[in-house]
Amino acid sequence: MLKKILAVLCLSCLLSACVAGRKETAPAVPQAAGGPVRITILHMNDVYEIAPVSGGKEGGLARVAALRDRLLAENPNTVTVLAGDLFSPSALGTAPYAQSRLAGRQIVAAMNALGLDYITFGNHEFDLKKEQFHERLKESQFTWISSNCFDQDGKAFPAVLDSKIIEVQGVKVGIFGVTLNSNKADYVSYKDPFVIAQEKIAELRPKTDILIALTHLNYQDDIALANRFPELDLILGGHEHENMQLLRGKDFTPIFKADANARTVYVHELRWDKAAAQPLSVSSRLERVTDALPEQEKTAKVVAEWQQIGYEGFRKAGFEPERTVTVSTEELDGLEASVRNHSTRLTELLMQGMLRAAPGTELAICNSGSIRIDDVLPAGRITEYDVIRILPFGGDIVTTKMKGSLLRKMLDQGLKNKGGGSYLQTANVSGGNGQPWLINGKKLNDKKIYSVAALEYLLKVGDSGLEFLVKNPGAPVLENKGDIRKALIAELKTVFGK
Ligand SMILES: [Zn+2]
Repeated sequence: MLKKILAVLCLSCLLSACVAGRKETAPAVPQAAGGPVRITILHMNDVYEIAPVSGGKEGGLARVAALRDRLLAENPNTVTVLAGDLFSPSALGTAPYAQSRLAGRQIVAAMNALGLDYITFGNHEFDLKKEQFHERLKESQFTWISSNCFDQDGKAFPAVLDSKIIEVQGVKVGIFGVTLNSNKADYVSYKDPFVIAQEKIAELRPKTDILIALTHLNYQDDIALANRFPELDLILGGHEHENMQLLRGKDFTPIFKADANARTVYVHELRWDKAAAQPLSVSSRLERVTDALPEQEKTAKVVAEWQQIGYEGFRKAGFEPERTVTVSTEELDGLEASVRNHSTRLTELLMQGMLRAAPGTELAICNSGSIRIDDVLPAGRITEYDVIRILPFGGDIVTTKMKGSLLRKMLDQGLKNKGGGSYLQTANVSGGNGQPWLINGKKLNDKKIYSVAALEYLLKVGDSGLEFLVKNPGAPVLENKGDIRKALIAELKTVFGK
């Protein structure tokens, strides 16, 4: 822990030194009254949950709001930004609401209360249906900035700026935003982020003192931005879900990302001293958002209200979100980086639960993309809401019978999908990776017919690389065994007690 804090402090010093040493290309600007100007930037990215995560220990927008209040009290020139990914995916967002789902309504309300200033699109904004997406834009009391995402006709989305210059005591700060083009929806079109960055830099650099790229790109592309455009002063990014701090390019342009779900936020202190040889210095610190922070009342109230609205929707769907399922004695890892690459105690329980829900089946199969919690549940109380967080889309368990050859094809493809949501979690299956597939310890027989419990989604909708299952009459849906969430609840009770 101490080492981490030291690392952050050292980084701050290092950054101040490096950035202060950068070449300054800014032209003359109006003199700031009374010496150096301090600008504080509170930076979040990839925030999906309005309430604390990790069993209540980390994150939570009411805590971020309290931190923002503190920063504002220290420096009224505090700007709050979010580097993309807000509307989706979240468990609460899947709650039935007004003939549809909440679909991000709850988090826009919480960010309005918190006082977010500027945001750029993340790829997950476009998970929403077109109508929902436009409603969320309308509800936003903060400013969307996107320089490379447009509607299907290439026009700007309503009220979305292509860049923004904010003026703080005479110091002009330019912000533009670029987003990677995954999660393509039919209502969005993209321009190349590098071409756009070049255009925006040409446009903004002569008019601004400080130039910031607010990005939602793979970090490799952020590095490429820093290498190609030393004119940028700061790259505030998102998308990776894990904090990072990099200095790249010939002027050591700093690139920052915080942890997802506001488990951490970055606080960047910018100091602009017109009189200095190197006017800009930046010192950045990663702040953990934990239960050590108080909750700001206003935001906490909005969070609680929307949580109750969401819970009400889940109740109508047959769940009691606040009811305790069990008290677990071990932590359950549902991080995407884990479940999309290997099995964990959580996936073991889930798959055993599928088998138990479908007696007589020999093995169970589920796509890892069904598991969306992207969090580790610590040992302790597990509520039905936690189960919804694990499996927000639910889906029914069905039984099927399939030939060994088809099962082999499915398992092989699942392994090829490693790292993605169509990587398969299984029960009673071992081997693969050059080893023979074993079903209940016996070599998979291509000619044998296997009785399988699977998520209906896999057989009816399919998943990337597994589309052959949908068309193949060799894997018909036989019996429905109910919602996978109910199966997990039953398994947790069996293993950890009621
Ligand atoms: Zn993303």
